[in-house]
Amino acid sequence: LPIVRAQSSPDYTPDAQFYKVEAILRPWRIQQVSSALLKMGIRGVTVSDVRGFGAQGGSPERQAGSEFSEDKFVAKVKMEIVVSKDQVEAVIDKISEVARTGEIGDGKIFLVPISDVIRVRTGERGELAERMTGGRTDMSTTTPPA
Ligand code: ATP
Ligand code: GLN
Repeated sequence: LPIVRAQSSPDYTPDAQFYKVEAILRPWRIQQVSSALLKMGIRGVTVSDVRGFGAQGGSPERQAGSEFSEDKFVAKVKMEIVVSKDQVEAVIDKISEVARTGEIGDGKIFLVPISDVIRVRTGERGELAERMTGGRTDMSTTTPPA
């Protein structure tokens, strides 16, 4: 598996070691997005079924077939992915590339600074807690430099 390359880090404000990439996307694109992320070594992901109202407004998903929505909210999936700062741009680029149809309703991505990460099982904090087994660090020790 390729590793997520360190990017030139833009000056996100406020500055943090970790960020949460929060993407509101079309439900039927989630599988493709999460497998693309997994190929990059991003394996910590949380998803929730949500409903929202944006430019798409109350227009139902065409792919939703016969489903009729009484209220004006459209079914979406929220993906939350906490990554280290140097992974942010690659994750945003990948999500945008895979989730885009070009039609209204493709979604939006929010970037949120994260103060700390705590792994409940071990009590680890910070980088130790954020790092996933089989993630970037493990891969970079087994992948020869390009
Ligand atoms: P452990 O090593 O104790 O299993 P872990 O780091 O693998 O810990 P889990 O306990 O498997 O973490 O994670 C629980 C849940 O936390 C996951 O199912 C996922 O929803 C969420 N999660 C974990 N890491 C991230 C992350 N980096 N970004 C977003 N969500 C995450
Ligand atoms: N930064 C972690 C790693 O490189 C991956 C984070 C994630 O999977 N969300 O191991």
